[in-house]
Amino acid sequence: MPSISVPFSSNTVATSSNSGQLIVFTGPSGVGKGTLLRQRHPDIQLSISATTRQPRPGEEHGKHYYFVSRPEFDVMVQQGQLLEWAEFAGNHYGTPRQPLEAMVSRGSIVILEIELEGARQVRQTLPEAPQIFVLPPSLEELETRIRGRGQDSDVAIAKRLARAKIEIEAATEFDIQIVNDDLERALLEIERAVFTPLTSKEVPPPSPQATQLPT
Ligand code: ADP
Ligand code: 5GP
Repeated sequence: MPSISVPFSSNTVATSSNSGQLIVFTGPSGVGKGTLLRQRHPDIQLSISATTRQPRPGEEHGKHYYFVSRPEFDVMVQQGQLLEWAEFAGNHYGTPRQPLEAMVSRGSIVILEIELEGARQVRQTLPEAPQIFVLPPSLEELETRIRGRGQDSDVAIAKRLARAKIEIEAATEFDIQIVNDDLERALLEIERAVFTPLTSKEVPPPSPQATQLPT
């Protein structure tokens, strides 16, 4: 098996402080999640996922994703290295636990930009993490954006649109829904949600024990 430069370990991920904040960000592929998240606020950290998908033009290993083979992904799952994982449009995606723990320990706001099944898993294991769903103005506009991005094949676009319908139907499961029609307005709504996240859920008092992400 080729060696991979992914900083994961199977150790538990206990944090020594809980000053950081995890926020889940979900919405159909092409709705504009990446565009919204990369606009401003370098203080907000994006969790870098592992995926078996092929890199798109311009995507870098360790920056946009950790691009791994399917056997490598399976090892991560077996060794408990992923906080959550799911299959999406024929590829596997998952959130590495250890870098996430490090960022939360440092007090960062960390965004998990993940699809519906992964968001549901996090809802079970970390119910205190606020969950935001980003909606397109319409399915037609969503297709226009995916095609306009120019990075997916027709087959991949069809899979993403089929999946989009399922995800949109689940939008009300999330704490906050934001329609990404006007980018600036959507950004303002996201800022409000991200910087006042604790008002969106009942948050239990901090545990006197070191916080531990679920294994
Ligand atoms: P995602 O990360 O959700 O898959 P992207 O951020 O890659 O989506 O956005 C998909 C495409 O939609 C990009 O070409 C982006 O420039 C465009 N886009 C994002 N937000 C808007 C918006 N509010 N209005 C018009 N186009 C947008
Ligand atoms: P894309 O291939 O367009 O980059 O991503 C496809 C979908 O996978 C998007 O909905 C994205 O949010 C989701 N995704 C990215 N990383 C993860 C992850 O670590 N876990 C899960 N469950 N979904 C992810």
